[in-house]
Parts: sequence; structure tokens; C-alpha cells
Amino acid sequence: MDKVAIDLHIHSALSPCGEAEMTPNNIVNMALLKGLDVIAVTDHNSAKNLPAIMAVAKKNKKALSILAGIEVTTKEEAHILAYFETLAAAMELDRILYQHLPEVLNKKELFGAQTIMDEHDQIIGEVDKLLISATDIGVSQLWELVTNLGGILVPAHIDRKSYSLIGSLGFMPPELGIKTCEVSKTETVENVLKRFRFFKEYQFIHGSDAHRLEEIAEREYFLELPDRQLQTLIRHLG
Ligand SMILES: [Zn+2]
Ligand SMILES: [Zn+2]
Repeated sequence: MDKVAIDLHIHSALSPCGEAEMTPNNIVNMALLKGLDVIAVTDHNSAKNLPAIMAVAKKNKKALSILAGIEVTTKEEAHILAYFETLAAAMELDRILYQHLPEVLNKKELFGAQTIMDEHDQIIGEVDKLLISATDIGVSQLWELVTNLGGILVPAHIDRKSYSLIGSLGFMPPELGIKTCEVSKTETVENVLKRFRFFKEYQFIHGSDAHRLEEIAEREYFLELPDRQLQTLIRHLG
């Protein structure tokens, strides 16, 4: 078995709350410096920086794998991480999510810029709609959309009272077939299990939810996997 160092919850400068320093090159270089094996950049309701991040990682002789991901806000205001084997699938969910965001434009001075970059960290665009709005997609509909695209769902920071699936619904809808939940880096799995007994059936991962470079995880969160293929990792999580 391989011990794979992960951080599957990182925001780029595309998320309004992500710092401008969270560029494709900076994220990849920091993850390499920290000795991580697999990262996922999971911006709020968008995947538009993933092409650049994957292009940057490709130049690094496969030392670091990038899992395509998006942190989706459902209409219940739950944050759910969607992970895909392919960039194309993530970009398709990106396209759908944009249509399901309300017509509320981002106010840069208030929320921060939503920057799209190329593989040289050049700004090539901005997303106009505010990405931290809730979409009008319900949890079950999201599950259907993501499953059809070959992806999986991992409810984000389930220990939190707000913006988590448990905080919003109070329970885990069994029809979603969730296998893995994410716990905030400030909370322990033991505490979560004490608070919610039904969580015994699930496996857990920690993610940094980094919005700044220094917040990206160290080699501290591991998965035991038979190999380092992204396909293997996805099957393990979902
Ligand atoms: Zn979140
Ligand atoms: Zn997040």
C-alpha cells in the first residue's frame, strides 16, 4: 500500500475569498515544497482555474497529481466537494453551475476578485457572477449531475454549524451514497463521532480549506491506497 499525502480542499484566486497569491504556479510550487502527492483545487462553484493548474503540474514530471474538484454550494447552503477523474467533467459541472447561480454580480471591493489565470499566472479573465452565492441546485440533484459526469461527492467541513450538509439538513441523506466526509482541520474525527453517532459508517478526510499559500496542508493527511492513480483515489473516496 502507498501512503499518499493529500490536501483535497484548496481555493485559488478564483474564489472571492482566496488571496491573490493563490495563483496556479504558487499553489503547485507550495504543494511540491510541502511534499504533497495529490491536491485538489476546489473553488466555490467554479473550475475555471483548473486548466492552468493542471498545465503547471504537468510540467513537474508528475511529482504532484491534481484531482479536479469544485466546492459546490447547494440550494440548502451546504458546501459539498465534487471530485472528477477528468478535467472535462469538472468543466462541464462548472458550465452547469454558472447557469444555476443567481444573477448577483461580484462586488470586488467587498468580496474580492474572481480571477481566471493561465499557466503563466497571467490574468485572462474574471467571473462576473458572485461565486459564493448558493446555486439553486438541491443536494439530490447535485448527486445526480455529478454521478452522471462520473464524479463523486464528499460533504465539506461537516463539523461546522453553517455551510455544511449536517448543519443545513441535520442528517445525511442515505440516497446520496456518501462514503467519505471532510472534517475541518481544526476539528478531530473523534469529536465528530462523539457528536454524531451515525457517522460511524463513514470514512473521513481532513482538508486545509486553504485560502492563503501558508494554509496549504503539510504532509499530515494521508490515504492508504494500492497505487497513486487518481482513479484509485476516487474509487476509495466515493
Ligand atoms: Zn466551504
Ligand atoms: Zn472551501
